[in-house]
Amino acid sequence: MAAYHSEKEFLRSLKRFNALSSQQYEWHTGISEKEHECAFGHPIPSENLYFKKFLDMEGERKVRVCKKCMEQLVFITIDSDRHSKQLSDRLYRERHPLPKKILKTTIR
Ligand SMILES: [Zn+2]
Repeated sequence: MAAYHSEKEFLRSLKRFNALSSQQYEWHTGISEKEHECAFGHPIPSENLYFKKFLDMEGERKVRVCKKCMEQLVFITIDSDRHSKQLSDRLYRERHPLPKKILKTTIR
């Protein structure tokens, strides 16, 4: 399934996907030093971009997902229907309000 046409489009949705998690447990990008395993069963070769999310406060347990799976996971969760798209967008904006400068000019 081709999910995104551009990196920019994917990153926009990834931010909304992250707004579903508590800030402490957002997904981060990483470059693998050694080979890891994607949560969906694929190998993540070393020196490849992948995504990780901590599962505990200490950062000892984490889940890793390869880029291809992440794109599909985000697409299915965020972009598959209008409701999830709008809801995740609202959550994202609550967490990242517009910069003050812009707010000021809007109020005036
Ligand atoms: Zn994978």
